[in-house]
Amino acid sequence: MITLKDFEDTGALLTGHFRLSSGLHSDTYLQCARLLQWPARAEAAGRELAETLAEFAPRVIVSPALGGLIIGHETARALGLPFLFAERQDGAFALRRGFAIAAGEPVAIVEDVLTTGKSTREVIETVNRAGGRVVAAGSIVDRGLPADALPVSSRSLLTLSVPAWPEEQCPLCRRGVALDTPGSRHPRT
Ligand SMILES: [Zn+2]
Repeated sequence: MITLKDFEDTGALLTGHFRLSSGLHSDTYLQCARLLQWPARAEAAGRELAETLAEFAPRVIVSPALGGLIIGHETARALGLPFLFAERQDGAFALRRGFAIAAGEPVAIVEDVLTTGKSTREVIETVNRAGGRVVAAGSIVDRGLPADALPVSSRSLLTLSVPAWPEEQCPLCRRGVALDTPGSRHPRT
């Protein structure tokens, strides 16, 4: 089972002052790629997520690039399903590369981290426009997804309740602490 210890052991849990992809600021950053750089851990996480998503009987897994690629692929592998990804094109998510979804086909969206659900909602809309029917969303980590953030059920392997604030309410900004770039920071170990 994936636990917080896996994140700590792989340097995937960073502390500092970060701007999350949601735009919120936080003192904790999850760099899931550091966990997923270990194929055995990625495979185990995908298997676990596959078990929790099986009840929704998806026939296709779709992830947003780049963050969702590895975990989406591993989840699809565990379920024996095809894996597609959506990527940003002129700011909006699109299914490119000839990816197609059959009309009404049940789809599960898989991400690394769910925070506000904004990008997941965009991918759900993209899939629905392509003719699919999104039945659930899954992620490795739930970073405080609001209960009504998604129009479908969601499942996460790990819930991490760490503070995140809009920039204007960020106590670190107020204290004048410089923003960290996660890629350049040493992990907390
Ligand atoms: Zn801040």
